[in-house]
Amino acid sequence: MTARILDGVRIGKEIRGEVAAAVARMAGKGRKPGLAVVIVGDDPASRVYVRSKGRACLEAGMHSETVEYPATVTQDELLAQIDRLNADPAIHGMLVQLPLPKHIDTDAVLRRIDPAKDVDGFHPVNVGKLVIGDPTAFRPATPYGVQQMLIREGIETKGAHAVIIGRSTIVGKPMAGLLLHDAPGGNATVTVCHSRSRDLPSIARTADILVVAIGKPEFVTADMVRPGAVVIDVGINRVNDASHPKGYRLVGDVAYAPVAEVASAITPVPGGVGPMTIAMLLRNTLQAAEQAGR
Ligand code: NDP
Repeated sequence: MTARILDGVRIGKEIRGEVAAAVARMAGKGRKPGLAVVIVGDDPASRVYVRSKGRACLEAGMHSETVEYPATVTQDELLAQIDRLNADPAIHGMLVQLPLPKHIDTDAVLRRIDPAKDVDGFHPVNVGKLVIGDPTAFRPATPYGVQQMLIREGIETKGAHAVIIGRSTIVGKPMAGLLLHDAPGGNATVTVCHSRSRDLPSIARTADILVVAIGKPEFVTADMVRPGAVVIDVGINRVNDASHPKGYRLVGDVAYAPVAEVASAITPVPGGVGPMTIAMLLRNTLQAAEQAGR
């Protein structure tokens, strides 16, 4: 079997187009969704993400603001900035790019964001809303993107056994909630595995849909995948590769080529889940503006 490739670039573009059309309709009423991104320090990967988020916002016709701080910023300065953005009517959504330097209490920062503007969906209010299935919740962009891929590719989740490897607050746990809900892209039977799971390969082999988010290059091998399963690879890992002009290449958490021989559908890395994440962040910013009614 050679798996169908689930193209996140194409699906992400489709969603960005839908968001841009909705933003244009809002513009007709004199309204414009705005997203602020706060970044601390000069981690090159974080800077690349933040730049792409800003660019994507502008392309969708949204207002975009980036607030940059050196790694030496104090927690009080950061909290004061969040208070300003909470009060700013031009900003409907905001996020603080993670990770933050060690001297900053990340939980305190995330909890300071007004839940109505928390487009990353990391505030406890939104985490709770997601768990109870409240449609006003902001769904974390990566698992929300995975769910949209499944829906738009016609992959039936209802009654399927979905196995998620990884239980982070950003990916694994919200993914479980979304797949479990009694809603489109939900109604799966969900198993979540982590580093302490016993005999993970045999659990993975029972999956109709296998979502992998652990940050370990090519961890999932073909013998861990049931023939015909759908495999979603969230991982983004840099591995050294002297033959590549940059000296490294990106690989997922799944050994792509051998697993593609067994699976019925698979996401590539790059070009799979990654582009969906930014698309869903824009979708969440639009949702924030719609819910704010201004
Ligand atoms: P975290 O490090 O926060 O969580 C990793 C999870 O994987 C933990 O639950 C950990 O278990 C589990 N894990 C680690 N090693 C193993 C193992 N050997 N067997 C089973 N479980 C294991 O990672 P994130 O969720 O933030 O990210 C995961 C990956 O997804 C990374 O590669 C990241 O770069 C990528 N990512 C991609 C995004 C995108 O846009 N495509 C967005 C976000 C992340 P335990 O809890 O027991 O320690």
